[in-house]
Amino acid sequence: MEKRDFVYEGKAKKVWTTSDPNLYVVEYKNSLTAFNALKKDTVEGKGRLNNLISASLFRYLSGMGVPTHFVELLDDLHQVVKKVAIVPIEVVVRNITTGTLCKRLGVEEGKTLPRPLVELYLKDDELGDPIITEDHALLFGWSTQEQLLRIKEITLKVNSLLSEYFLRLGIILVDFKLEFGIDSSGNLLLADEISPDTCRFWDRDTRNRLDKDRFRKDLGDVLGAYQEIWKRISSSGEKQ
Ligand code: ADP
Ligand code: UDP
Repeated sequence: MEKRDFVYEGKAKKVWTTSDPNLYVVEYKNSLTAFNALKKDTVEGKGRLNNLISASLFRYLSGMGVPTHFVELLDDLHQVVKKVAIVPIEVVVRNITTGTLCKRLGVEEGKTLPRPLVELYLKDDELGDPIITEDHALLFGWSTQEQLLRIKEITLKVNSLLSEYFLRLGIILVDFKLEFGIDSSGNLLLADEISPDTCRFWDRDTRNRLDKDRFRKDLGDVLGAYQEIWKRISSSGEKQ
C-alpha cells in the first residue's frame, strides 16, 4: 500500500489517498500543539512513537470487538486506515478531574469520578472546539440519535478496556479524546488516533505525567514520557 494523492494536513497528521478508494494512509508528524495551536513545537521522534502506540491500541481494541478504522502499520511513521466521513464531534471521557473541566467548572483537580464523564465538543478549530450538548448535535445535524447512542456505547467500552489495559502497565488513564467516522458501507468506526497527544496518562505509583501535559505545562522531557508509554506497551506481552 502506497501513498498517492495528498488529502489533508492537520496539526498532528497528514492524510493521503491510496490505490484503494476505501483506504487512506496517515502519517504521524513530529509537531506538537496545545491551546488550540497557540503553543507549537516540534519533537523529533514523537510521530514514530504516536504511530506505534496508536496502532497497538487500535489493534488491541479491534481484537476486543471495537469497530475501528485501523488496517495495518506501514512503517515507523505511517499506518493504513479505512477512509471515513468524520463525525464532527470530539468525544472526551474523564475518569479523574483535571484540565479544562476544572478550569471551566471550578471543580477540584485530581478527584476520581464515581463513574466516567462523557463530554461532546464540536470539532471546529476556528471556534476553539466548544463544548456542546446532545441536543446541539441533533438539532444542527452533526450526528443522529442512533449514532450518538452507539458513540456513547463504544466510548464507554473503550474507556473500560483501556483503563484496565493501562492499569496492568502501571498507568492511570485519566482522560482522553475519541473521534468517530462512517465508512463507505455505513458502519460507525472509531477513527483518528489514541496516543499521549490525545490521552492523559499518569504513572500509578509516582503520578508522573506521561503525556502531552508535559508540553502544555512545560514539565520537560516530552519525548521521554512518550517513550515510556511505548516501552510499557511494547514490553507488556499483552495482545497488541
Ligand atoms: P487536526 O485536523 O485536528 O489538526 P490531525 O492533524 O490529527 O488533526 O489530522 C488528521 C485529520 O484526519 C483529522 O481531521 C481527523 O479527523 C481526520 N481523520 C482521522 N482518521 C480518519 C479516517 N479514517 N478517515 C478520514 N479522516 C480521518
Ligand atoms: N483532547 C484532545 N484534543 C482536543 C481536546 C482534548 O486530544 O482538541 C484530549 C486531551 O489530551 C485530554 C482530554 O481530551 O486527554 C481532555 O482534555 P481537556 O478538555 O482537559 O482539554 P485540554 O487540556 O486538552 O485543552
